[in-house]
Amino acid sequence: MTKNIDDIIDKTRTILKEHHLCDNCLGRIFAPKLGLVSYKKLGNKIRNILKQKNPKSCYICKNLMSKLDLQLGKMLDMSKEYEFSSFLIGAILKPSILDRDDLIRSKFKLKGIHSIKNDITREMGKKFGRRTKTIVNYQNPDIVFTLDFKTEECEIKPKPVFLSGRYTKTVRGIPQKQRPCENCGGKGCYVCEFHGISEFESVEGKIAKFLYEKFGAQQTKITWIGSEDETSLVLGKGRPFFAKIINPHKRKIKSEKKIDLSGITIHNLKTIEKIPSDIIRFKSEIEMEVETEKQITQSQLKSLHKLEKQTISVYENSGKKNQKKIYHIKYKIMSDNSFSVFMEADGGVPLKRFVNGSEVEPSLTSLLENQCKCKIFDFHEISLTN
Ligand SMILES: [Zn+2]
Ligand SMILES: [Zn+2]
Repeated sequence: MTKNIDDIIDKTRTILKEHHLCDNCLGRIFAPKLGLVSYKKLGNKIRNILKQKNPKSCYICKNLMSKLDLQLGKMLDMSKEYEFSSFLIGAILKPSILDRDDLIRSKFKLKGIHSIKNDITREMGKKFGRRTKTIVNYQNPDIVFTLDFKTEECEIKPKPVFLSGRYTKTVRGIPQKQRPCENCGGKGCYVCEFHGISEFESVEGKIAKFLYEKFGAQQTKITWIGSEDETSLVLGKGRPFFAKIINPHKRKIKSEKKIDLSGITIHNLKTIEKIPSDIIRFKSEIEMEVETEKQITQSQLKSLHKLEKQTISVYENSGKKNQKKIYHIKYKIMSDNSFSVFMEADGGVPLKRFVNGSEVEPSLTSLLENQCKCKIFDFHEISLTN
C-alpha cells in the first residue's frame, strides 16, 4: 500500500506540473488504485499531501464539477410534479471536456478510471437520491433525466405506466375505437392537446380520457383483445384490454373494482409490469341476430349442429388461412326470416363474414343454403385461454 501511495504521489506530481486539476478530477484519476471513496475527498487528500493549492480552473472539466448544484436545482424542481421512486441520469458534455479527459488518460497511461461523464452522473445520482429519498435504477427507472451541460438544459422523461383491465358496454351505439385527430393523425399536436384524439365518444375515447386525467398523462395507447361493432353490447366480466400511459405524472392508482364512464364500465383496472408481447388467445360467448333471404324454419336450423366442436376456415385478404374453433352453438327461430344464435367460439372470428359466408367456410349461409346477414352481435363473455 505504501509503495502504491508513493507511486501515486510521484505520478500526481508529474501530472500537476503540467495541468491544473480540481479535487474531483484528481480523486477520480486515482480512485481505482485506492478503492472507491469520494473522489472529491480523495483528491483533496492527495492535494494536501503534495501541499498544492486549489487551481483557479481545472484543465479537464473547467470547474464543471463544482457547478453541478445548478443542474441539481433544476432536477429537483422539475421532478416535483412527478411520482417516482427510482431514476436514472444521463449527461451530455462538451466534446472538448471529453477530449481533454481522454488526453490525460492516454498521456499518463492511467488505466481503469471512470470517465468524467460517469463521475458526473454518479455524483448527481448521489445528490439527487439523497434529496428525494429515491434510488438510481439502471434497468427500469421510473424517470430518466438527461442533463445537457452544453446548453445547461435538463430534460425529464417518465417511463410509461402499463395497465390491464376489462370493460363492459351496456348501451348500444358506442363505437370501440376513436378516430385519430385530423390535424396530426394521432401523433399529438396543439389542436388535440397532444392527446392524439380530440373526441371522446367511443370506448377508446372514454377510457383514454379517464386515464390521462387520472395519471396526468399526455396519451394513452390501448391494446384490444378482440373487437366489436358500434351496436354490440359487451357483457359478463367484460372485454380485456391493456393500456400504455405515455408521459405520466402519477404512477400509482388505488385499485378500483368498477369505474363508471356513462355507457361503459371499467373493471379491475390495475398496473402491470408490461403489456404481454406474445399473441393473446381468447374465447368468446356470442349472441347474434341473423336475417335470412328466404324463409327459414326451426327444422332447417338443425344443420347448424354440424358446427358443434368444428373448425372453420377464415381466409384473409393476404391469402392466409386461419382456423377457428366453434365450441358450442345454440339457435332459436325468431320469425319467418330471422333467428338468433348463441355460440362459444375462438376469439377473432369475423362474425359478419361467418354469417354471410364471405371467405369463411363453412358459414351459416353455406350450411343453411340460404343467404344470411348478421343484424347484431353481442358478447356475453370473453375469456383468456393462454
Ligand atoms: Zn475537474
Ligand atoms: Zn392532433
